[in-house]
Amino acid sequence: MGRLFIENVNAPKIYKCKCCKVDFASVDDVLSKNFVARSGKAYLFTRVVNIFQGPTEKRLMNSGWHDVRDIHCSSCQQLLGWKYEKAQDEYQKYKEGKYILEMRKVEEFEEEIVVV
Ligand SMILES: [Zn+2]
Repeated sequence: MGRLFIENVNAPKIYKCKCCKVDFASVDDVLSKNFVARSGKAYLFTRVVNIFQGPTEKRLMNSGWHDVRDIHCSSCQQLLGWKYEKAQDEYQKYKEGKYILEMRKVEEFEEEIVVV
């Protein structure tokens, strides 16, 4: 797969891989916290780094048929969630090109603010 390139996310609060601690996204990339995956709570993100995507497949979800791709951590390869490629329903179109991260697979990391 070539050389592994790890990108850093600079933000006061970021989401990291629970397994290998690479950065995935900033708190500013969270679009919605109202998603549920098989493993529980999941968030919708506009941008996620340090991932690789599986092939596109059609999946029937609570909100109808979607073309999705599984997304994995590019460092430890664990399954993190999925990316919406295409939604059939007009009301679900906002999800296209966005990412779902399952909260059990990631951890929130807040930078410590040092007051001098
Ligand atoms: Zn990882």
